[in-house]
Amino acid sequence: MSVLLRRLATLLAALVVLPVLPVHAAPPPLPDRIAAAWRTDRVYVDARIAPAIPLSELARIRAESTRAGFAVYVALIPRTPGLSEKLHDLPTLLQARVGQPGLYVVATVSDNHWSGADGLFRPGGLKGRSLTSVRSDDKQRLQIVDDRPAPGIVRTIQQAATAYDGRPLPAALASDLEPPRRSRDTPSITDLEDRSVFIGVCVGGLAGFLLVLVLTLTRRRPSNRAKAAEPTAYRKEIRRQADQAIKQAARAVQQLEKRPKLSVTQLDHRDEANRRLDAARALRADQPDDLLAVTGALVLARQAQQAVAGRPVQPPCFFDPTHRSGTTRVAWDDDVEVPACRTCEQKLRKGKTPYGLRVSRSTGLLGRSREVVPYWTLDPEDNPMVASGFGALTDDLADRVRKRPEDAR
Ligand SMILES: [Zn+2]
Repeated sequence: MSVLLRRLATLLAALVVLPVLPVHAAPPPLPDRIAAAWRTDRVYVDARIAPAIPLSELARIRAESTRAGFAVYVALIPRTPGLSEKLHDLPTLLQARVGQPGLYVVATVSDNHWSGADGLFRPGGLKGRSLTSVRSDDKQRLQIVDDRPAPGIVRTIQQAATAYDGRPLPAALASDLEPPRRSRDTPSITDLEDRSVFIGVCVGGLAGFLLVLVLTLTRRRPSNRAKAAEPTAYRKEIRRQADQAIKQAARAVQQLEKRPKLSVTQLDHRDEANRRLDAARALRADQPDDLLAVTGALVLARQAQQAVAGRPVQPPCFFDPTHRSGTTRVAWDDDVEVPACRTCEQKLRKGKTPYGLRVSRSTGLLGRSREVVPYWTLDPEDNPMVASGFGALTDDLADRVRKRPEDAR
């Protein structure tokens, strides 16, 4: 047999042997694993995080589930890379596997912060409110602590119960709430200091916003890379709103594209919407745990909706971009005007400082302590949201997000 033939024979033998080599079976997909576990226990806890969860937390979740009077399915899982995009689809995927009406809650943990997704599926014909509308009416929703799983899940079950049959929403336990914030109405010394710092950099204001921007960019503060990570319950809510706005904007773009023939103007509207939508998605995907980033995503997604509908794109409220659009220009100082929503405008008229979007940053020599400050007092150098006032000072947030150097992400 020639060398060539022998080699060919060896190769063929290997090909025959390969398929029968033992293969490790891939674990079943996550939704299948959870749905299978729910057959015996409707509170599923992933083995990787189970040791860290006190039994008292699980007991509270079980007790509230029993009280609800409808099926409640809960899954506690670690936040793994790649889960973010899938998380919001999980309740639907799980309900499809279980096939039963009820509340489906998926809670995930990362760095000791719990967040998640949920869905309330009702038996056919049953009337009631949507979980989303009950939640947005819940005045305590933003104060629920998220350093352990039970407070958020228990509150979701209570909100679902109200949505289910209209029973009143009970007050949350005091131990489940973050300590009360300072009154929003009286400008504190810190507010006044912040304002004077801001006014300080704007002295003159002759070149308008450009000058504000240049001066703000060159202003330095200690611990300038403050990560806007707090208050956590608030961040969770803004992230949910951003996801909703992104989804609605994307749907509107799709609707527009379905039309048989688009005019040049309509194509422009579509392109403008896509530009903002892409930036919103990038912010949301890159920094899901950063309040500034998810707020930026919310602002850009709302603007994408305006653009695709052919409406003028509105700047956000400078003080708190999660407010309604900044439809009025208000004097922040004699020389500087910023766009503000009606509420903030009225507050300023009364001589008060709007509370503003607050973020937490580390202070002190070792950066060990944290303080909560208005976002506009942060150093804007590496943060396009701070630098542009979320696009309220200069309407270039989408471009800044896309041009951002990789190391700042
Ligand atoms: Zn406002």
